[in-house]
Amino acid sequence: MNPLNRLVVRTLPLVPKPVVRSIASRYVAGERLSDAIATVRALNAEGCMATLDVLGEDIVRLEETEPTVLEYQRALAEIAARGVDSNISIKLTALGLKLDPAHCRRELARIVETARRHGTFVRIDMEDSSVTEETLRIYLECRASYERVGIVLQAYLRRSAADARRVAAVGGNVRVCKGIYVEPPSLAFQEREEIRDSYMRLVEDLLSSGCYVGIATHDPVLVERSRAVVAGLALDRSRYEFQMLLGVARTLRRRLTAEGHRLRVYVPYGEAWYAYSIRRLKENPSIAGHVVKGLFGPREEAGRP
Ligand SMILES: Cc1cc2nc3c(=O)[nH]c(=O)nc-3n(C[C@H](O)[C@H](O)[C@H](O)COP(=O)(O)OP(=O)(O)OC[C@H]3O[C@@H](n4cnc5c(N)ncnc54)[C@H](O)[C@@H]3O)c2cc1C
Repeated sequence: MNPLNRLVVRTLPLVPKPVVRSIASRYVAGERLSDAIATVRALNAEGCMATLDVLGEDIVRLEETEPTVLEYQRALAEIAARGVDSNISIKLTALGLKLDPAHCRRELARIVETARRHGTFVRIDMEDSSVTEETLRIYLECRASYERVGIVLQAYLRRSAADARRVAAVGGNVRVCKGIYVEPPSLAFQEREEIRDSYMRLVEDLLSSGCYVGIATHDPVLVERSRAVVAGLALDRSRYEFQMLLGVARTLRRRLTAEGHRLRVYVPYGEAWYAYSIRRLKENPSIAGHVVKGLFGPREEAGRP
């Protein structure tokens, strides 16, 4: 990260909320479900699928899970009623995983039951390494009774190759991503090329063992290598999809859909947009430019979609 960006990252908490909101409009569909459905519709019209994420994670009181469950149930009903092409992505810490895993399991079961009624796929996001094992266990338990549920493996984690074998054993549906949390060298690869190598090994191993793979990256190198792998394996396009975040790498996204690859966009929405936006900004290499534009430039409409 260049010195200017480093400085901006350090001073982000001081950036006025309206400025963050203006920049966030690129990465977040809005506060309401209707905003999210409108974004999904626009993405569908562009030839992309979507996954809806109700923003919020790492809750501190168990009572906080109820609104999240209700919102996911509303989202599932709305996806079905509006006939849009979207599934949902859930963070288990928003359902109380770090506070009470039994409570989390019950809350997840309520959402999965609604998804089952609508025939909709549910992706369980992967969070920091303190919850990797429990998240994987909950996924495997859930997968035993509902097939349309998937998990995420993070290429930076050293354990992911072994986890991939556990998931492949049940023919799981896996999103592969680099991983977004700060993890120590004992648990995670730190070097860019090591992470890329791990990423491609996961993609190849999972595809070769018959798993459906969500190739979640904006890294042009990984996209190229993945295109080569699916071509080499002569895979049908129904066996994998590319995945990207709302507002990121739209040129690459359009290229992939134009080539006929399936592509899903992660569409976060909800009142907890601030924390999510700050995280997106911190990982964006051109962050300073975005903040300066947000402070001094015209309102950015780039987020649609
Ligand atoms: C659909 C999806 C779901 C994800 N789910 C999870 C999850 O469950 N758990 C988890 O730990 N991580 C998740 N991630 C995040 C992921 O782990 C990475 O942190 C993130 O995608 C950046 O890695 P990259 O592969 O895009 O490569 P990078 O090398 O980080 O990025 C490649 C290029 O993409 C562009 N880019 C990347 N991020 C941004 C940004 N925020 N704004 C603007 N441009 C950007 C930049 O041009 C950058 O040079 C998910 C990512 C995606 C796309």
